[in-house]
Amino acid sequence: MADGPTDLLPAEDDPAYQVFIDSLSYLTPEEIELVREAYLFGEEAHRGQFRQSGEPYITHPLAVAGAIAEWQIDVEGVVAALLHDVMEDTRVGKAEIAERFGNPVADLVDGLSKLDKIEFQSQEEAQAENFRKMLMAMAHDLRVVLIKLADRHHNLQTMAAVGAEKRRRVARETLEIYAPIASRLGLNTLFGELQDLSFQLIYPMRARVLGRALKAARGNRRALLSKTLEGITDKLKATDIKAQVFGREKSLYSIYRKMLDKRLSFSQVLDVYGFRVVVGDVPTCYLALGALHELFKPVPGKFKDYIAIPKTNGYQSLHTTLIGPYGTPFELQIRTAAMDNVAQEGIASHWLYKDSESFGVDLQQKTTKWFHSLLELQSAGGDSSEFLEHLKVDLFPHEIYVFTPKGKIIPLPRGATAVDLAYAVHTDIGNHSVIARVNFNLVPLATELTNGDRVEIVTAADAHPIADWLNHVKTGRARSKIRHYLKTAHRDEPTALGEKMLGQELRALGVAASDVPVARWKSVLRDSGNRLVKEVYTDIGLGFRLAGVVARRLLSKEHPPHLSDKSDSSLVIRGTEGMAVQFAPCCQPIPGDPVIGSIWKGKGLVIHTHDCPAIRKARRARPAKWIDVEWAPEPGQLFNVRLLIMVQNTLGALGKIATEISSSGTNIVTINMDDKHPGLYTTLRFTVQVSDRTALARLMRSLRRIPEVVRIAREQGLPA
Ligand code: MN
Repeated sequence: MADGPTDLLPAEDDPAYQVFIDSLSYLTPEEIELVREAYLFGEEAHRGQFRQSGEPYITHPLAVAGAIAEWQIDVEGVVAALLHDVMEDTRVGKAEIAERFGNPVADLVDGLSKLDKIEFQSQEEAQAENFRKMLMAMAHDLRVVLIKLADRHHNLQTMAAVGAEKRRRVARETLEIYAPIASRLGLNTLFGELQDLSFQLIYPMRARVLGRALKAARGNRRALLSKTLEGITDKLKATDIKAQVFGREKSLYSIYRKMLDKRLSFSQVLDVYGFRVVVGDVPTCYLALGALHELFKPVPGKFKDYIAIPKTNGYQSLHTTLIGPYGTPFELQIRTAAMDNVAQEGIASHWLYKDSESFGVDLQQKTTKWFHSLLELQSAGGDSSEFLEHLKVDLFPHEIYVFTPKGKIIPLPRGATAVDLAYAVHTDIGNHSVIARVNFNLVPLATELTNGDRVEIVTAADAHPIADWLNHVKTGRARSKIRHYLKTAHRDEPTALGEKMLGQELRALGVAASDVPVARWKSVLRDSGNRLVKEVYTDIGLGFRLAGVVARRLLSKEHPPHLSDKSDSSLVIRGTEGMAVQFAPCCQPIPGDPVIGSIWKGKGLVIHTHDCPAIRKARRARPAKWIDVEWAPEPGQLFNVRLLIMVQNTLGALGKIATEISSSGTNIVTINMDDKHPGLYTTLRFTVQVSDRTALARLMRSLRRIPEVVRIAREQGLPA
């Protein structure tokens, strides 16, 4: 293009680059400067690399960043789009990107590189669903998905020089994975384009033939179309309704699918015309509908009000089918400009739509707000369960997704180990696992897994579960399977473990196990309902009874312990009869949380949740001191739990929340409000009393429905 010495300079005079820079007018001058730097950085990193079409590689990130700018996504998104391939294709690392452009950009680029590494294995519907969840989990920041979609869009547009087989593979993957994601996010324009481009790559002949036929057919019907359009425009004008009227073009791929799925002929498919009327506000939508129903006769049963009851992805519009001139039916959509924006750009319209309210709010909050507005729409009517299911991964980031060697994706709670995975795959695999291979490295089974890990479990026929695994599992499934195994198949091991644990406790109290008088054992057996001493050992080994408790009772003079010795909470944890039990203030366990305990002088048994960060060190230092315990709550008991609720700073938000909490029958113990930083959002801290996790989940769900609530979470960790 350019000649002479300019060839050696970064292509700042390249028209494509100029158009791109011009499209950034929604950013500040400082931000545009940063984008410029990112371009120069990316250009240099990719220098000497070429697309298969022969163009310099930087043309690709430039096009992707251009699409991101078109959605008016913030500067971090644009910069990350420019750099999205540098980690993959050049020697630039995450640290360097972080240093030059900040951590958020580095995280975005890193997230994109990780997405690229995922090979889509199976074409089954279920797998695609998992893949989508995976995407959402990795992209707790939606910008990753948006950049990925723009990347895929540009790749499809520039596939002419790529080999036929790869072309078809990429196109098929797009139809199965990326197009549905675009659709789910409501990016309908992009959705249609991804489909049509893929269709052309997989079936070039069919696409050409169909395209030609479509063009011809539209030509033939031009008179009919313009007559209908004219009728609509005139009628609206006569009724004093300001509106824009569009003819609706169907995508090639949707016509093809319709012919295939419904076995329709080409002319049957084409007989369905479409028009779209865009007006100023919601009341006008209904006015326009009334006017047009007057002009053309509606087809009964075809009217749908997606304004009152929006679709799950937030889509809103009125749909009706009318009988046009010469008796030809056509479809009509009526909606406001804002709804039209959402209909075409979906989640991205959120960035495009700059209202004063969301200005300056950080992206995570914006995203949450978008989801929230959708949830709110859902609660207005319609079935929200499916929708919630898909959003679960975003609203509850407590899950990770790992791969089996066969490419199956398994969801696990955060903090889960290879033992959990083994049992999630199959009980037999769990019961015979020996060691794990995580991302091709051998590691102990107790290793905590992270999102996206590829995990292989090595098994051996004569291997079996050991009691210590109970300290390293997070899932109820693994826990109960291990307990079941230990109880039924190999009683010896927990028995030996229990005997050892009891021996240690007794020694700590200054007595050798052999010195315990038989009379004391008899008394303990009578109280516990066991026949044999061995059974008590087994119970201890399995975590049903606590060694410390049994030891103290073996040594206590009076028996059974007086009722007055019992603290109330001792009824809540199984096997603690007669012992003081306390719940740690740091994590505030409630029934349903996996819990462990440890005996402290003067405090008795202190209970923490399994994932309590305050005890991580202490657990690692002396694992034997910690005992896996189980809940056995009495009905009617209540437990304190802290909630952190971020709300829009409007009058009455606090009142609404407090009312919702108490009307659900929950006690409020304390309320704290962070009013040090007055702004759009305020953080409220509640301590409330609930009976267990289920009750807490129910309460949080009902609070999420309050429109002012932006974020809600259970707060754990040391109280501020
Ligand atoms: Mn790329």
